[in-house]
Amino acid sequence: MNTTLPTSIAGSLPKPAWLAEPETLWSPWKLSGDELIEGKQDALRLSLQAQQQAGIDIISDGEQTRQHFVTTFIEHLNGVDFTQRKTVKIRNRYDASVPVVVDAVTRPKSVFVDDAKYLRQLTKQPIKWALPGPMTMIDTLYDDHYKSREKLAWEFAKILNQEAKELEAAGVDIIQFDEPAFNVFFDEVNDWGIAALEKAAEGLKCETAVHICYGYGIKANTDWKKTLGEEWRQYEDVFPKLQRSVIDIVSLECHNSKVPMDLIELIRGKKVMVGAIDVASHTIETAEEIADTLRKVLKFVDADKLYPSTNCGMAPLPRQVADAKLRALSAGAAILRNELANQ
Ligand SMILES: [Zn+2]
Repeated sequence: MNTTLPTSIAGSLPKPAWLAEPETLWSPWKLSGDELIEGKQDALRLSLQAQQQAGIDIISDGEQTRQHFVTTFIEHLNGVDFTQRKTVKIRNRYDASVPVVVDAVTRPKSVFVDDAKYLRQLTKQPIKWALPGPMTMIDTLYDDHYKSREKLAWEFAKILNQEAKELEAAGVDIIQFDEPAFNVFFDEVNDWGIAALEKAAEGLKCETAVHICYGYGIKANTDWKKTLGEEWRQYEDVFPKLQRSVIDIVSLECHNSKVPMDLIELIRGKKVMVGAIDVASHTIETAEEIADTLRKVLKFVDADKLYPSTNCGMAPLPRQVADAKLRALSAGAAILRNELANQ
């Protein structure tokens, strides 16, 4: 385990082909009942092994136990009707058929805690567990009950906080909230988005992270990126308030991106999970390319707060590509670690 520049992944890894259709988002399970429970645990063990063999320091669940990073969590809540579907535009970008909030939302029982306990007993390495953030959750639903994005986000924040506290008690070291919606709804982020995120993290003693990215490497996202111009300054709108928030770690997209790296100065003091792997390309980064991205970010993040990572989840990639990218991440981080040690 490296204590300098510890590596991790932002979120998902590909699932084995016997568990779910590969290279597909929202891929349906191929197993059911007890076989599915066992299959998910086997996949969790394989994803742990893939990370360990590649030398990753902070272990993630790789989202092996969920179909989708937002929907699976919502499926476990009361108040959301999955038989009713409405089409909404997710993150102002692509249409999706989503379930409807029909009543007060509650969490009748924990969602990922058993999975986290299972992963916990398999490794002594630090583990990170991702949950969807409140704003990203409301953006993946049609609300026919609260009729207020802010109110619904607040209810989800309370539910996320219950889940987060149980994950912490299960031994999770870092709880990450995925908030790609922070890159789209800047006014709402500043009005109530960060407050809702802090509510979700309230009272936690483990470390907390927020992941803000430009999305998976799917067509809707790569098309959207083409409209963003030469400089992607989205982070600029939300960083000042995020810098003053209680969240410990900010996970960002940096590699092959048009985000001006000096924006990271705006969150000085936070730990930064630096995306040094492009998840929208099958090309494997060289170790030197990764080191180069990390070196650029090092101007704006203190070395002891720099955490090499991936831009986003790797669920839609072929497994051998994801594995090779994990190894590249380790190799790239090692180059920079050596440079820092010899300074
Ligand atoms: Zn992401």
